[in-house]
Amino acid sequence: MGAQHRQGERPFLRRRLRDDPELRAEVEAAADLHIPYSKWRGATPVSVTTYEYDNGQLTRSVTTTEPEWTDEDRGLVLALMAERRTTCPTCGYPMDVCRDPSTAQTWTVHEEICQPGRVMQAVAEDRTNARGLFIYAKRG
Ligand SMILES: [Zn+2]
Repeated sequence: MGAQHRQGERPFLRRRLRDDPELRAEVEAAADLHIPYSKWRGATPVSVTTYEYDNGQLTRSVTTTEPEWTDEDRGLVLALMAERRTTCPTCGYPMDVCRDPSTAQTWTVHEEICQPGRVMQAVAEDRTNARGLFIYAKRG
C-alpha cells in the first residue's frame, strides 16, 4: 500500500464511513446540503441565557448558544472529504483497495449497456461534422 493511499487522519471516522453505508449516505446528504450531520439528524443547538440583577433590576443578560457544527460534524466532513480524495476515478473503490496487488484475482468485470447512450453514440459517430451538435435521448 502506497503512502498516498493510507487512510491518514481520522482513521476511525473514515472506517465508520466505509463500514456503514447508511451513515455515509446521511453524511453525504448533509454535506451536499451544507448542513451539519447533527442538524440532518434533527439536533438543534441549545441556547442558555443567564440574567444578572442588581437590587432586583435586570442589568445584564447573556445568551450562549452551542456551536452549530460539533466536533463530530467537522470530523465526519473531513473524513468524507478524505474518502472522496482517495476514491479511484476509474473504478470508484478506495484506492488503497483497488490498487492493492493482493486484490488482483478478486475482481470481476460486469457489462451493461445504456440504451439511450448507445443510440446517441451512434448518432454522434455519424455526424462528425455537425459543430455544436447537442444530442439527448427521450423515450418514445
Ligand atoms: Zn480503481
